[in-house]
Amino acid sequence: MNNLQAEAEKVRDKVVGFCQRLIQTPSLPGAEGEIAGIIQDEMENLGYDEVWTDVAGNVIGLLRGRSGPALMFNCHMDHVDTGDPARWSVPPYSGEIEDDAIWGRGAVDIKGPLAAQVYGASLMRNAGVEPTGDIFVTAVVMEEVGGIGTQALLETIHPDFAVVGEPSSLRVARGHRGRVEVIARVRGRAAHASAPDRGVNPHYDLAQFLLRLQTLEMRTTPDFGSSTVAPTLYDTDQFSANVIPSEAWVHLDWRNIPEESPEEIQARLQNILSDCLSDESEGFVTVPKHTFDTYTNYTVTAPALFPSFGLPADHPLVFAAKRTLDEALQRDTPVIVWHFATDGGHLMAAGIPTIGFAPGDGTLAHTSDEYITIDELIAGVAGNSALAQNLVANLSQNEDLP
Ligand SMILES: [Zn+2]
Repeated sequence: MNNLQAEAEKVRDKVVGFCQRLIQTPSLPGAEGEIAGIIQDEMENLGYDEVWTDVAGNVIGLLRGRSGPALMFNCHMDHVDTGDPARWSVPPYSGEIEDDAIWGRGAVDIKGPLAAQVYGASLMRNAGVEPTGDIFVTAVVMEEVGGIGTQALLETIHPDFAVVGEPSSLRVARGHRGRVEVIARVRGRAAHASAPDRGVNPHYDLAQFLLRLQTLEMRTTPDFGSSTVAPTLYDTDQFSANVIPSEAWVHLDWRNIPEESPEEIQARLQNILSDCLSDESEGFVTVPKHTFDTYTNYTVTAPALFPSFGLPADHPLVFAAKRTLDEALQRDTPVIVWHFATDGGHLMAAGIPTIGFAPGDGTLAHTSDEYITIDELIAGVAGNSALAQNLVANLSQNEDLP
């Protein structure tokens, strides 16, 4: 066992207790006020130099460093609903310990990773190490509804690098596909359903559009696989079954590889829709905006998308993170891409090179019987501690790399 692992072992019971308290405090999107207070108290007790919440209710802990580049740890506080508690073998907010694991909603997404960041970054204080640059540990609101908290956070904090804590089984994640919500709308002309000739029925144009999607060629990369598209919701402007509606629209869930921008997707779909229109109808493809209120009553209006992100496998930050974690965890750390979207996309879109790292098995996220093993949680504390202490130093040694 090396020093970092030994330091992490010393706080094992405290980390487990903190993770259990986080799971026992429900924090659905927009209702993170109570858990924010718990995280703020813990950071203060752990000796963070400054702890505050911003206007959106994100919690920020600062460990002041020397004049080097600033590093941000980023993790969300909210989680998805539990679904029917009867489908769980433990009460979902119990945080029970069984088989050397902590069980409950959020164990891997996101309370285990959050506990591992809050404790991991602060461990250097116990070891008497001063960080190269400022270290921000941020616990953000409303990630599960589109990264609302991180987008607000970036208005006041702009670090040089970031580590996103989402379950990666202690591997380095270097990207993921994005998600873009698109609405394709056809406007025809309403008419009495007894006389179809008098109207322009939007359903037929939209049906042709949907069939085109079924055979659409999607862009592919070796790293991220293919973009995908799935029609989800369908609606019209009518409630009466005996009226031809004037408008019909369909929602599409498009998962894009990093090489494909939301603008490109929108333009491509607009072309296809225009091709499917009759002489008298019009068609519009839009990315809708959604408005959310955080628990502090801060209102954010944002387009319905999570940007994709992808650092090349040979990017210096990926190398530095792998080297740091190889040493800390004494193993050959795999480098992966995530299947799900994270706030890493928003961070990269703001020009902040980002990698992902956390304990926890991502395939358990959003499922019943979510759990995190205590050994992996503590290894995550050691890993984050190593990233806080050595990532920036290892990065500067890498400057001659591609
Ligand atoms: Zn998550």
